[in-house]
Amino acid sequence: MPHEGSREEARFCLRCGAPLVVEERAGRARPLCRAAGCGFVHWGNPTPVVAAVVEHDDGVVLVRAKGWPERLFGLVTGFLEADESPEEGVLREVREELGLHGRVASLIGVYAFPQRNELLVAFHVRASGVVELGEELIGHRLIPPDKLRPWPFGTGLAVRDWLARRM
Ligand SMILES: [Zn+2]
Repeated sequence: MPHEGSREEARFCLRCGAPLVVEERAGRARPLCRAAGCGFVHWGNPTPVVAAVVEHDDGVVLVRAKGWPERLFGLVTGFLEADESPEEGVLREVREELGLHGRVASLIGVYAFPQRNELLVAFHVRASGVVELGEELIGHRLIPPDKLRPWPFGTGLAVRDWLARRM
């Protein structure tokens, strides 16, 4: 499902609840806990997110989630469940968000998305069936690949690379 990312610095210790202080650790400033016996460091490692360029009926499916700005459409994305592979996760997201049965055609690439502190794992998925939007989505569009224009951040980089490889 789509999700709200966040780069907010943590203010309180996730382990003991004490206020965090910012100090240098392993080469950069990081929030960490000075409470006795704790020492928790908020590393803030990026969260892996799977994304799909879904090809369906000769077009690429873009989706719009609740709360997104009016004209914003994006790829199907989602967090992995604890026990699934990226391929399983991306196909589950395609099923949940679009009601489509998909198969992974290729791994497009892996991309940093620092604005959301995420690591995107993007796949090309071919899908069949009739689109039935999941409850987090309020719209979708089918864009012919020659009309698809990548956006210069996040999942747009996967769209750019997928388009370049099609040529
Ligand atoms: Zn602590």
